[in-house]
Amino acid sequence: MSDRFTRRAFGQAAAGALGAFGAAPQLLAAAVDAKAEPATPAEFKNLPAVGSRVPTSGNFATGVFHEAARDVPIVEECDVIVCGAGPAGIAAAVNAARAGAKTRLLEVHGCLGGVWTAGALTWILDYANKPGLMAEIVRHLEARYAQKHKGSVAYDVEQMKLLLEELVSAVGVRVQLHTRVVAALKDKDNRLSLVVTESKSGRQAWKAKTFIDCTGDGDLAALAGCGFDYGSPDGGLAQPMSLMALLTGLKPEEVTPFTRELAESGGWAGPKDRLKAEMEKGGHSPSYAKPTMFHLREDLFALMANHEYGVSPMDAGQITAATMRARGELHRLVNGLRGLGGVWSNVKIVATGEQIGVREGRRIRGLYEVSTNDLAIGVRHKDAVCRVTFGIDVHSTDPKKTKGIEAKPVKSRPYDIPYRALVAKDCDGLLLAGRCISGDFIAHSSYRVTGNSVALGEAAGAAAAVAAMNSTTPRETDFEDIRPTWTRLQFEQAMKT
Ligand SMILES: Cc1cc2nc3c(=O)[nH]c(=O)nc-3n(C[C@H](O)[C@H](O)[C@H](O)COP(=O)(O)OP(=O)(O)OC[C@H]3O[C@@H](n4cnc5c(N)ncnc54)[C@H](O)[C@@H]3O)c2cc1C
Repeated sequence: MSDRFTRRAFGQAAAGALGAFGAAPQLLAAAVDAKAEPATPAEFKNLPAVGSRVPTSGNFATGVFHEAARDVPIVEECDVIVCGAGPAGIAAAVNAARAGAKTRLLEVHGCLGGVWTAGALTWILDYANKPGLMAEIVRHLEARYAQKHKGSVAYDVEQMKLLLEELVSAVGVRVQLHTRVVAALKDKDNRLSLVVTESKSGRQAWKAKTFIDCTGDGDLAALAGCGFDYGSPDGGLAQPMSLMALLTGLKPEEVTPFTRELAESGGWAGPKDRLKAEMEKGGHSPSYAKPTMFHLREDLFALMANHEYGVSPMDAGQITAATMRARGELHRLVNGLRGLGGVWSNVKIVATGEQIGVREGRRIRGLYEVSTNDLAIGVRHKDAVCRVTFGIDVHSTDPKKTKGIEAKPVKSRPYDIPYRALVAKDCDGLLLAGRCISGDFIAHSSYRVTGNSVALGEAAGAAAAVAAMNSTTPRETDFEDIRPTWTRLQFEQAMKT
């Protein structure tokens, strides 16, 4: 393929992408009922023969490959780009689109939802005081086998995948799955202006007026050169990872004593301690000392039973090793239970997470850092975008001390997260939402759960749309200018819920 041909094709591809962006957002209910089809990705129509790629060139010497510069097609220009489609990214993209912004969502996995789906989490915490999209999602899930408990919701992972696809399609969010954000470019004024992705379509560049980092690990902000913190202040160790498993072959009425929210005695720890004792009877002691079984529907359960200590989410080799160790451990634990017979005779794993659950990655520095003291005093802010009610929850960073949950340094009270914690400090045009916002190690252990991620995503989505449509940056946008859009979207959803 000649260079000339490649460039022309790139130009056509970019034009096709922009032309395809005109469709007006539909109402959610209408689109969900109409089983909205995903839009045909028009940007791919004019590319050269299927599978054609720009050849790599360059030189290599000992230990380094110097890759030659090459043209990358700018496949789209829009108002808001959201990187990462976990609970925060979904909320950010849906709200940006509902606020009227042309919105693109980029996700590395083959489904929307992040830890909710690729991570097979099955359990939403700190949802109850969240109006807007969180309440809307719970309402839809309730019609799809979800079970509401006092402070949590148990859901079916496959139903969540489908629901999220319907939600983003209904409001006209453009989605590309299987696509990893790998580079970011800032302009001379330190404003983020473009991201580069890698996928089966090769390298692609995407422009926007405002970006939102919802990658959980803060990949986009780090690529844009933002400062960040990682792990605990004493030694930099982060919380362990856990691989979730889905189980069948159990009768809820027979395993009640071992199941969270079904067990009537023993409080929070009782079912976990009984399950651990059973696992040990089966021949294996779990690496997480408080293994937890959740009932989802009929004979479908979820299991969280392992801890992978000291693994960096920024190191693919370490994550790979942790994933394989964890999967092996889960199968050994469940095989051991089945070997006990009785209520466990038919238990089996039907799926494990495609992605090991990462509790903690980079905490990107923002205009405000949520602190342990904020939790201790139950801080209030004028520009509050989320009220966190979930307490401090640090899974052990050091198995020599405990394999369970670490002691809480302070008693926390419900507290506010301000808009400023979502605005990146070191780069303009960039918002943060979800577990990568600006906070300290202890505060992060509390606000990281998914009800809060959704609330943070909603605020970031509204703010990004307002900034983009006013041709300004999130840093320059006063929260009072965002509030009407943010409140209107929450109110509209509350009315529907
Ligand atoms: C084992 C475990 C158990 C937990 N238990 C609970 C619980 O019971 N209830 C609860 O509410 N919360 C729980 N949490 C916390 C919660 O799941 C997370 O903190 C929450 O998912 C954060 O949401 P997020 O959207 O910020 O990140 P994530 O859910 O991690 O989503 C990030 C998304 O970005 C994508 N992504 C990452 N990098 C890139 C890139 N470079 N390019 C493109 N896409 C990218 C990922 O694939 C993913 O889809 C648990 C977490 C773990 C790990």
